[in-house]
Amino acid sequence: MIEVHVLASGSDGNCIVVQSPEGSLMVDAGMNGRRTVEMMGRVGVSGGDLSAILVSHEHVDHVRGAGVLARRFKLPVMGNRNTLSRSEIGCVRQLPFSTNEPFAAACFEVAPLPTSHDAAEPNAFLLRHKDASVLIATDTGVMTPALEEAMRTADLAVVESNYDERMLSDGPYPAYLKRRISGDVGHLSNIACGESVKRTMGNGRKLFLAHLSKNNNTPDAARDTVARVTGIKRMNIDCLEFIGDYRTLRAL
Ligand SMILES: [Zn+2]
Ligand SMILES: [Zn+2]
Repeated sequence: MIEVHVLASGSDGNCIVVQSPEGSLMVDAGMNGRRTVEMMGRVGVSGGDLSAILVSHEHVDHVRGAGVLARRFKLPVMGNRNTLSRSEIGCVRQLPFSTNEPFAAACFEVAPLPTSHDAAEPNAFLLRHKDASVLIATDTGVMTPALEEAMRTADLAVVESNYDERMLSDGPYPAYLKRRISGDVGHLSNIACGESVKRTMGNGRKLFLAHLSKNNNTPDAARDTVARVTGIKRMNIDCLEFIGDYRTLRAL
């Protein structure tokens, strides 16, 4: 069994703890150190439970607290070399991996998969422990065939549903930013998320919508759109509701 604690998700910070009975990893550390420790406390995770911090890419909403937490809890930071070299994490022990080359961390087998995003070498992660698997895929302008294949096999998919197309186009952002967000190396819209989920519909896979924009989306808009596109009941589509909200999910 894998427990997934979503401690923060969105442009203010992204942080997930993936836990099994034999070990735990943090995936992204986008909140500051103090806040991360506070949120870990709410789900009963301590720094000593963690084996490493994995970082998906160097954007600050994914690495803000990584250096502080790594030093405080004596954890290695794992990322591909391009990501590690561009991340502001200070002096920490770094364990590089290569995109598309699965590796072992804690008791998980981790497959780092490329995403399509305006960072040096951004990754999604497919994590396996025994028979359970979790995909964490955010910050991608498109869902690639490899990401969709991972989503098809995962017991739990934590997938970006970043923006409502109308809210983005009618909203206050300048045109260049709208183009960046909606482009192929930006973020995934609610509709694109729903279409991808529909294409990869599996037996009992659980779904969690992640990295919702606070300016160009709402939890209701994301859930409604993904429900409409996929036919999944709205009550079975979860996401964080507000800043400070968190969730514990299970993949069996
Ligand atoms: Zn990003
Ligand atoms: Zn992000």
